[in-house]
Amino acid sequence: MPAMINHCAAKRISSNLRPVPNYRVLVRSLIAWFAKHARDMPWRRTHDPYAIWISEIMLQQTQVKTVIPYWERWMRKFPTIHALSTARTETVLRLWAGLGYYSRAQNLKRAARKIRNEYAGDFPSNFNDVLALPGVGPYTAGAICSIAFNQPTPVVDCNVVRVLSRVLAIRTNPRRNPAKEQIWKAAAGLVQTASLLNRSGGSRNCSHLNQALMELGATVCAPRDPDCPRCPLRKQCAANTLGCTALIPALAPRPKSTPREFAAFVVSHQGNYLIRKRAKTGINARLWEFPNAEFCDTAGSIASAARKCLGFATSNMRPIGTILHTITQNRICLRVFSSEEEQCGRNLTNSLRWCSVKQIQKLPFPSAHRQILRLLQNPKPLTR
Ligand code: SF4
Repeated sequence: MPAMINHCAAKRISSNLRPVPNYRVLVRSLIAWFAKHARDMPWRRTHDPYAIWISEIMLQQTQVKTVIPYWERWMRKFPTIHALSTARTETVLRLWAGLGYYSRAQNLKRAARKIRNEYAGDFPSNFNDVLALPGVGPYTAGAICSIAFNQPTPVVDCNVVRVLSRVLAIRTNPRRNPAKEQIWKAAAGLVQTASLLNRSGGSRNCSHLNQALMELGATVCAPRDPDCPRCPLRKQCAANTLGCTALIPALAPRPKSTPREFAAFVVSHQGNYLIRKRAKTGINARLWEFPNAEFCDTAGSIASAARKCLGFATSNMRPIGTILHTITQNRICLRVFSSEEEQCGRNLTNSLRWCSVKQIQKLPFPSAHRQILRLLQNPKPLTR
């Protein structure tokens, strides 16, 4: 039966039954819907480009409910571009700890310095100037210029891709051309139409139109089982009219994740723990962590792996728990071992340092290693 539905839908989509989208109708429907159904978010209560920029960067790869407390803490600590531009990198990373993809936080600081030096601290409003900021791509530049400055710049995130692929019944992979171009063109056409309607009504149509497209994708036009009866675009949506929403967007299957195993070594001495700082570049650059290494040599002993990682031999490494987490395509199993050292006067490499729990809590630590701290208070037996 599903194969039959596919075949029928494909045949009908390729026919001339496809409704022709009317941008004015789409824009009016989206803006009216957004006025009623927009979720309340703290960055939606302001037009400050700095606050909107921070929210857009935090929202990349992260859900709204996770971002809200981070954004609020950030805005309290760095209420202005100047405050961020003069902050210590370690403080910036500590506030970001747990959000992942730490290069985003470092780029925010670099961009704040650029804005301070080149624009006297005023956030640029020209699209190309915004695009030239470290860590800002076409999506983020479009979002800032439209949401903060109400400019007719298109935004295309994964939610917009889904909505527009369905509205236009695009059957090919929307991440590749020509479908990709078609989606950007439609997004641009919609926001330009909103800008024209701006002159004859509503004052922030570009901002509301782009936010409405993203909001609709996030709350109604779900990847599976879109709630078409509740959608303001149901009459104009080609996929809904043709009954093929389940086939669109035609994304390529996700690459399989790779399982990887690591061992982390928690070495303590009279309430202090040995931690190390990561290199200035690469994943989790400049963050602190418990010494750890990928554990590929299943035949080797934990003691020899620990010696290699720490630079000295330890006694009594005992398992205290396992932490499972995912970084991009890697499914990581982090096995945690601990040992109590009788002396701390060893020659340590530059990146290693003894710290109390209180000191550790003030340092930027990735969330998997914060979980190790919690494990120390509540040890669990290894499950594997
Ligand atoms: S009608 Fe359905 S498929 Fe079309 S945009 Fe709305 S929710 Fe998505």
